[in-house]
Amino acid sequence: MIFTKKMCRKFPLLFANRDDFHLECGEGWHDLIWELCEKLEPLLKQELAENPASDCAHCGHSYDVHACKSPNRKQGRCLAILNVEPPSTNYIACCCDQWQPNLPYVTQIKEKFGGLRFYTSNSSSAKFYAHIAAAEQQSFVTCENCAQPGDSIMRRGWLVTLCDECANQVT
Ligand SMILES: [Zn+2]
Ligand SMILES: [Zn+2]
Ligand SMILES: [Zn+2]
Repeated sequence: MIFTKKMCRKFPLLFANRDDFHLECGEGWHDLIWELCEKLEPLLKQELAENPASDCAHCGHSYDVHACKSPNRKQGRCLAILNVEPPSTNYIACCCDQWQPNLPYVTQIKEKFGGLRFYTSNSSSAKFYAHIAAAEQQSFVTCENCAQPGDSIMRRGWLVTLCDECANQVT
């Protein structure tokens, strides 16, 4: 299984139940990203446990209108009916397919100026951002190609973070 699919499956809250994700950085940072996700996912789990029935992040409607017959399964399709004005006789149903907990999720992971950038939607937790900042710092001393200790160097006008070996090999 490719890394991003494995990651999405292992951290479903963090990746908002996507089944794949486009990672815009080298393999050398995979472990760094995985370890960061291992710290963030439990924070989201805790947030969900404290607020198990938030309004849906997709459509904004309440948890209760996202109907599901089995109590053990995720809340499914939204049954909210929207009154369209005018005329007031027109109605449309909400087209949200599945309730999504209103939690921060990953929007983009990429390399920029030699460092890892890990973007998420808003979180109110300082701890959440502290973990991200620590991993981003760590990326500046981790080879983006092979995960060995590395350095940020200038290469054809771009900052890249590589170990000595990769810096000599990768042209
Ligand atoms: Zn809805
Ligand atoms: Zn919804
Ligand atoms: Zn390397």
